[in-house]
Amino acid sequence: MTQTIHVLPDHVANQIAAGEVIQRPASVVKELMENAVDAGATRIEVHVLDAGRTSIQVLDNGSGMSPEDVRVCFQRHATSKLQSADDLFALATKGFRGEALASIAAIAHVEVTTCQEGADVGMLVRCHGSELVGESPKARATGTTFHVKNLFYNVPARRNFLKSDAVEMRHVVDEFQRVAFAHPGIAFTLTHQNANLFQLNPGTLRQRIVGILGPKHDERLVPVQEETDVVSIEGFVGKPDSARKSRGEQFLFVNGRFVKHGLLHRAVLRAYDNLIADGQHPLYALYLTVDPARIDVNIHPTKIEVKFDEEQPIIAILKSAVKRGLGAHNVAPTIDFDAEVSLNISEVKPGMEVSEPVVRIDPSYNPFNAPTSRGGSRQASSPSLGQAHGGWSKPDASGWKDLYKVLDHSESTSPAEAKAADTSRQSLEDSGLEVLLWKGKYLMVPTEEGIAVVHIRRAHMRVQYERYLHNRLSSGSQSMPSQRLLMPEAITLSKAEVLALNDARETLAAMGMELSVVDDETVELSAVPADLTAHVREALDAVLETFHEGHWDDHEERHRRWAQAWASRVAPKGEVTMPLGLRRQLVADLWACEHPHIDPTGRPVMSVWTSEDLENPFR
Ligand code: ADP
Ligand code: MG
Repeated sequence: MTQTIHVLPDHVANQIAAGEVIQRPASVVKELMENAVDAGATRIEVHVLDAGRTSIQVLDNGSGMSPEDVRVCFQRHATSKLQSADDLFALATKGFRGEALASIAAIAHVEVTTCQEGADVGMLVRCHGSELVGESPKARATGTTFHVKNLFYNVPARRNFLKSDAVEMRHVVDEFQRVAFAHPGIAFTLTHQNANLFQLNPGTLRQRIVGILGPKHDERLVPVQEETDVVSIEGFVGKPDSARKSRGEQFLFVNGRFVKHGLLHRAVLRAYDNLIADGQHPLYALYLTVDPARIDVNIHPTKIEVKFDEEQPIIAILKSAVKRGLGAHNVAPTIDFDAEVSLNISEVKPGMEVSEPVVRIDPSYNPFNAPTSRGGSRQASSPSLGQAHGGWSKPDASGWKDLYKVLDHSESTSPAEAKAADTSRQSLEDSGLEVLLWKGKYLMVPTEEGIAVVHIRRAHMRVQYERYLHNRLSSGSQSMPSQRLLMPEAITLSKAEVLALNDARETLAAMGMELSVVDDETVELSAVPADLTAHVREALDAVLETFHEGHWDDHEERHRRWAQAWASRVAPKGEVTMPLGLRRQLVADLWACEHPHIDPTGRPVMSVWTSEDLENPFR
């Protein structure tokens, strides 16, 4: 028998391990910055070329390393921060595994220059793919410089897996911000292609937050402070009226380390109960300090998660601290909920005749209509079907009959007739089809198979969603018809978002959205897709959502997300009253959809009570 098991050579093992720790250039930036923080630096500079693909340089004025240390720092499990497993429970440093440098060195060309205080001269060491390839004395002020070049040069699979520069740079900025947020006392600089992106002076927490997000965010901040035996909390949360549709301004730190923690996040959200609309996200930068012995940061190599011994009390304290912060600054009473809700209902123009006061929505409102046809349908207090949909070309409605075989007494079911969408809709309005409105939220539709119970809001969302995507296809993906705004709208964003939008200007133009960068944290929208002019801000937020979720490179995904946001915006919320014509209309539109069963977010649109369900009790 031959021996088939052998121990992997170190450099191979390192390469494999590297995959866990170093996923992309941003991981290098994070690890090197954290090492600099651990070394006690008060000034840290990060210089990046080509989103980190070709070069990442991190300079610090920390302790530096001795010549002996710098020779071994690239070895796996080489760390000065942990000596026994017990130390794990009292960690004050970011690093402790001694994995980062070994991982980086395994998959890049690394050069480190370092000098300890009082040393005559510093030292330069080069390491290529885990191998030390040279060392020499080199002059340097106290501190350390890591220069990482040609990342993934020996792991083509990884290199090919990298996304566009815009996306990789977003990750770099994310990591940079997280470390910078956690250490307001340290000066940080970030440059990309030699251009300054961030220059953060040491200061207070508030100054740091404003330094990162931009000065306009200053007035949005409300302080939060709480001191208990279990946890102390400090930081800032955003005023409710500055909450956004897109995520990305939520920062939570536990013992100086950025973490993501679903329950803590929800605790903050719950403090905003009734203060912000569903689906909105408040800004927060909160810093929790707990006894290091009572948390476990060891559960994931990238250390973004954290496990508490006792979660419940921390969650409760966090929620009440945020609530108190909001209350103490009298933020709550200034919010006008009714005004917020009214955004979701039809816009009633002055002079418009409203004959049915109970109609709180205009179900025929279609943002994708040409202006003339929309105006026409608005003026009618009970829009006729033909008018309401004059402006858009919707998916072929011929499918709806086959799909559920809606019982239709008055109309011939010949497919030829059904084909002409308008005709079919018109006749559906006149048809004898019973569509019962139940609880203001559901439609009960008799079909040949039984009774379909349709969720009105979700049905609307599905219809609007497909309409948007369809419209886009039929108008050619290069040219969503766009409409100039009378007054360009200035929108305040975070610096990172402005950078991203600037990179994506061409795609946005194809989506019908024209914008220009005013300054670091302001963009100006001058054109949006035709008829979406009333919801400019939401349109942009929907796009940014894909940015925060990491789908920025996927143009299709951006469009889909946008369509989704729009559908959700346009669909009625709460209870509605709908005249029979509109009920039939919605049913016909839904039946004509490609995927009538689920809404754009994947929730069911309808449930069907089959004849069996209905008739069984009588047997
Ligand atoms: P860890 O941070 O988990 O200890 P690393 O691989 O990141 O492991 O670093 C290995 C060791 O190299 C650290 O423990 C530290 O002693 C030393 N080191 C790394 N970066 C620096 C730096 N910027 N300044 C001083 N020492 C450093
Ligand atoms: Mg480290």
